[in-house]
Amino acid sequence: MRAVRCPFCEAPFEVSSRAINARCPKCTKPMRFEDAELNGFCNQNVTTMGTVRIGRKGVVRGRIECGSLVVSGQLDGTIRINGCCIVQPRGVLRGEIAARSMLIERGGSFEGTVEIGGGAAARPAA
Ligand SMILES: [Zn+2]
Repeated sequence: MRAVRCPFCEAPFEVSSRAINARCPKCTKPMRFEDAELNGFCNQNVTTMGTVRIGRKGVVRGRIECGSLVVSGQLDGTIRINGCCIVQPRGVLRGEIAARSMLIERGGSFEGTVEIGGGAAARPAA
């Protein structure tokens, strides 16, 4: 089992570690747990509670909501991460980020706004 938090209503619950789809027991919204890797030039919106990786050759623009994010290429967008955001060496992250925690490794760069917090605090203030 793995512990997750619903991205819609913030309710914590558990799913099988092999599950790729689940519904929140509280708000019944469906969500996915697949990991995704993006490479090349793309405009893409991704919603998953799994890990999204931006590969070294990725130049990605989009709206991403995910369990965790690893940036080795370039990512530009509005990004909400329920867990940790990692920018690796030579990774470039730009945009509006909300994450529970963030790590920028030596050689990685970040430009934009970031909100670090847990639960509802990860949402932009009204
Ligand atoms: Zn929910």
